Amino acid sequence: MSAAVPTSPAPPPTWLMASADLDTLRLQNARAAQREWAQVSPQQRARQLSRVADALLAREDELVALIQRENGKQPVEALGHEVGASVANIRWLCRSGPDALAPHPVSIAEMPHRRATQAPQPWGLVLVISPWNFPLSIPLGQVIAGLLAGNAVILKPSEITPEIGSVIESLLAPAALPAGLFNVVLGDGQVGASLIAARPDKVFFTGSMATGRKVMRAAAAHPIPVCLELGGVDAMIVLDDADLDLASSAAVWGGFFNGGQVCASVERLLVAESVREAFVSRVVAKAQALEPATDLGRITAPKQREIYDRHLQDARDRGLQIRCGGEYVGPDTLTPTVIDGPGIEASAVYREETFGPIIAAAGFRSDNDAIARHNALWGGLTVSIFSADERRATAMAQRLDAGLVSVNDVAATLHALPQLPWGGVGSSGFGRSHGIEGLLEFTWPKIIETPRAGHLGFKRPWWFPYGADQTELMRQHGRLLGATNVRDGARAAAAMGKSFVKLMLGAPRT
Ligand code: NAD
Repeated sequence: MSAAVPTSPAPPPTWLMASADLDTLRLQNARAAQREWAQVSPQQRARQLSRVADALLAREDELVALIQRENGKQPVEALGHEVGASVANIRWLCRSGPDALAPHPVSIAEMPHRRATQAPQPWGLVLVISPWNFPLSIPLGQVIAGLLAGNAVILKPSEITPEIGSVIESLLAPAALPAGLFNVVLGDGQVGASLIAARPDKVFFTGSMATGRKVMRAAAAHPIPVCLELGGVDAMIVLDDADLDLASSAAVWGGFFNGGQVCASVERLLVAESVREAFVSRVVAKAQALEPATDLGRITAPKQREIYDRHLQDARDRGLQIRCGGEYVGPDTLTPTVIDGPGIEASAVYREETFGPIIAAAGFRSDNDAIARHNALWGGLTVSIFSADERRATAMAQRLDAGLVSVNDVAATLHALPQLPWGGVGSSGFGRSHGIEGLLEFTWPKIIETPRAGHLGFKRPWWFPYGADQTELMRQHGRLLGATNVRDGARAAAAMGKSFVKLMLGAPRT
């Protein structure tokens, strides 16, 4: 009788050991629930998750009131950009997601006797860390995508909008998810950091570049993958032939909706010098006509005031013109501000993200100059181009470094569209939310590869032992795959066939 193989208890997974102060049971439960959830078909998951859209619609007024109270945006924006956008996103994900998550064949011409299937797999336990500026639609969209893909999800909403974060938990109740699959953990950056230390399988972070760096550093210690949706200094480019009335209305809305606290808000205007004054004066007039009580969102996060004050002071020190605004009405409203003047390109308000109701206006001399000025800064989520000549604008669009370029509209509008992948280039981050690409961020591709026509019970000719015939086989194989015409391909195939037969005849079968 052979001796029993000694067994030792399986070590606990490292994500449980990593953080002593976390509710480890909760995380353990999430892992267990995920294994159950991953066995549910994507179609069934979609049916369950679609009920969250029904819940949103049923609780619309309550949610709008809560968003208005905690975040300070206008009800029209809470309806359109938060509740409505979330409903659209969930419905689209539940309609289009299951097909994207289905296994699909991949042709492998190099191995005609084999077939391969690519099957998107859930990461397991994903961590979603969110900001406060779209406190419902940003986290909810990522949570639904994560769950639809078969993951357990932990959401750490912003500490500045915790009530909305908590409500998300109750919005998911009608989906009847396995107990423990979805968790909301409230707290500040330290809590976010300890959640990363607990080693989820992937982190979806939306927030500032400074925090994004910390998140990536912490994730690198494991390592685990991250998706970073960061800020930007998004521009509107106004060409000399643009409809200045339309473009100025677009700039004012794009720069000041939600109090300018939008990752893709118009932070910079790049205006053809020949129309610069005509355009900027229209923007100023329309900005001054805004009504703080009904048009503007309040400053949600008091920490933002430090940035506004620094940018305004820097502009004053440089002798730039504050064409309108620059003053606080009460503690949490900054009047819509437009800053212009020579040398603005060196200023903080032009070069850094303000994330508030301040727009910096600069000029350019040619289309090439506009592109160079746009691309010279550190990131790019979106950019808008206004021109009467769509072909000219579309040609420029190809050369602008940004995740989304919009012609004759404000690009920020498009954040609400579920079909379009959303994300930046450069220091605005990487990875995507929204669209099929955004859904697939919550998966990794597993390949299952099988014989195409039954079991081939002989040793492959490229296995050991090596010899001259194998070298020749590989040489011709490369030539066959690299052939760009039928004659070269046929010649390589014939030579390859010869080596193959020789090898098969000379080698043992297995
Ligand atoms: P932030 O970086 O201060 O905080 C974002 C989240 O990270 C919060 O939940 C916070 O608690 C958490 N956090 C802070 N420190 C952490 C740490 N060390 N580890 C883990 N988590 C930590 O950003 P904010 O002020 O909430 O949001 C504003 C920023 O978000 C702006 O820069 C804006 O452009 C960006 N943003 C980007 C997008 C996008 O889609 N690209 C969308 C919305 C907002």
